[in-house]
Amino acid sequence: RPRVLSGIQPTSDSFHLGNYLGAVRQWVALQDDFDAFYFIPDMHALTVPFDPKVLAERTRLSVAQLLAVGVDPERSTIYVQSHIPEIAQLTWVLSCITGFGEASRMTQFKDKSAKQGVDAAGVGLFTYPILMAADILAFGVDRVPVGEDQRQHLELTRDLAQRFNSRFGTVLKVPQAHIVSEFAKIYDLQNPTAKMSKSAETDKGLINLLDDPKRSAKKIRSAVTDTGSEIRFDVAEKPGVSNLLTIQSALSGVGVDDLVAKYEGKGYGDLKVDTAEVLAEFVTPLRGRVDEYLSDPAELDAVLARGAARARAVASETLASVYDKVGFLAPG
Ligand code: ATP
Ligand code: MG
Repeated sequence: RPRVLSGIQPTSDSFHLGNYLGAVRQWVALQDDFDAFYFIPDMHALTVPFDPKVLAERTRLSVAQLLAVGVDPERSTIYVQSHIPEIAQLTWVLSCITGFGEASRMTQFKDKSAKQGVDAAGVGLFTYPILMAADILAFGVDRVPVGEDQRQHLELTRDLAQRFNSRFGTVLKVPQAHIVSEFAKIYDLQNPTAKMSKSAETDKGLINLLDDPKRSAKKIRSAVTDTGSEIRFDVAEKPGVSNLLTIQSALSGVGVDDLVAKYEGKGYGDLKVDTAEVLAEFVTPLRGRVDEYLSDPAELDAVLARGAARARAVASETLASVYDKVGFLAPG
């Protein structure tokens, strides 16, 4: 089976609807056809301001959420990035074949360093794409399901793999981006032309899966809607209404066209009430499952230990070949 790999950063307590509908839900579906590697990039989380206690807690919460939405540790390899030291070791070798100018062209660094202030940003934020390349190349991955925002980093990953292979001999598999256009893109409820994001300025437009559904219902009630009163799917003219339709459709499985037909002659209030209702039905059992996983830290640790053992077995083989090709003397 071809291999896929993807990660989600432990940079907030809860996944938001965009993380789930745009990414993690597809991870669950991909488990059937792919040898799936899913991980929590805690090393990447150090590239933005962080609190050590909170980071450990969020890493656990992230794993619990993955399990609760249906990522299956029997079929998928689930691990925490820092448990695989080979990733950092491979990063060093890759960073030595990455051009400084090449790394400087990465737009995410420009965006995120502008937010932190260029002088406050760490070198880790700058080399982040090389760590991400190592995340992927260590595992001989065929496909990487990512959002559009990661396309440039994946291009760098491919360039580095090809460069390594042509300079030192073919060792690294060149991965393909798996950007599926029907993956939902979810927008901020208060600003429905910007993507829903954990790092938005306010959390008023952010729906977290682990929040009390009453709180989320309030946010949905005060979602920005559009002028007029007609409910139809039109991202350009009616971004707010279209976003609510997308969310309700994705969570209920009812197609957008059927929803639009159902709302003929009804108002925005009905759309909001129903969307909040469908969300509550989805998150209520999910929150229960997350609590169950969190109440058994030994079981979570066991899942991660199995995942790390499997992941390290693969990554250490890649690293041994890479070290050999670049001329490192094998330890005696
Ligand atoms: P940040 O804005 O701080 O980068 P994030 O919300 O984008 O945080 P990530 O951990 O960077 O969270 O992303 C995890 C996954 O969720 C990625 O695959 C990303 O493409 C996807 N994703 C994030 N936001 C959305 C969204 N609004 N709609 C669809 N997918 C999204
Ligand atoms: Mg992001």
